[in-house]
Amino acid sequence: MCRAELASPYKTRAKAPILGAIVSTGLAMTVLRFDNVSKRYPSGHHALTDVSFQVAPGEMLFVTGHSGAGKSTLLKLIHLTERPNRGAVIFGEKNLMRVRGGRVALHRRDVGVVYQDHRLLPDRTVADNVGLPLVLRGMRRGDIVRRVRSVLEKVGLAARANALPGQLSAGEQQRVGIARAIVGEPKLLVADEPTGNLDPTLSAEILALFASLPERGTSVLVASHDLNLLKRMKKRVLVLNDGRLVDDISPQDLAE
Ligand code: ADP
Repeated sequence: MCRAELASPYKTRAKAPILGAIVSTGLAMTVLRFDNVSKRYPSGHHALTDVSFQVAPGEMLFVTGHSGAGKSTLLKLIHLTERPNRGAVIFGEKNLMRVRGGRVALHRRDVGVVYQDHRLLPDRTVADNVGLPLVLRGMRRGDIVRRVRSVLEKVGLAARANALPGQLSAGEQQRVGIARAIVGEPKLLVADEPTGNLDPTLSAEILALFASLPERGTSVLVASHDLNLLKRMKKRVLVLNDGRLVDDISPQDLAE
């Protein structure tokens, strides 16, 4: 995806006036902050260079850019699958550089992850798949059953709790993946191309579900190269180009 292609759908007004004003007065708490973050893989490839941005609690935003621009790498630094070489990733009050060993698992409770291929266990029911993160953290069975029921209602799958993933449509499977990612009530949900395998109608359905999460206090960061989808959603968009953050477009700046 080239820069011109991205620039054309948007008006060229001043950027992020509201968010910018709040941040500059220091009133906004951030759920996530990248401070001059660079990531170079052992192969020598510079995947991210000097990337800085912040995310407010309850905000939904996208990160976009061409294939290889660094979107997945950016998400991996948040859930600690990768570490930066320079700069700092700050999550709430924590510098993730200091989160090591057993604390990584604790950190991941605060970050829900949705994958394009949803990674469900094929031989477990929908309810078991969704409840798994709570089982792993040792929650009581009665509490798990209640939480799973509530989150399946939220994603519109209460009636399919006892089905196996293979008995569901692609869109339903993705909703199970989202339910599993939010069942632990994370502070931030990150999703890597979550609609990559879905048709436009199902994509819109999934994105509407994401858009409803900030109302419940979870911030949402979605990596997507789907320009049409970004235009429709009218949310803040971070634009990566060859690992550099080249634009940070506020919802107000998106063309009608
Ligand atoms: P995107 O998600 O935007 O497609 P990625 O973050 O996956 O981009 O990749 C950014 C760049 O880093 C690409 O050039 C990719 O080939 C490279 N890259 C990604 N993962 C690795 C890795 N584990 N080792 C070496 N290079 C990698």
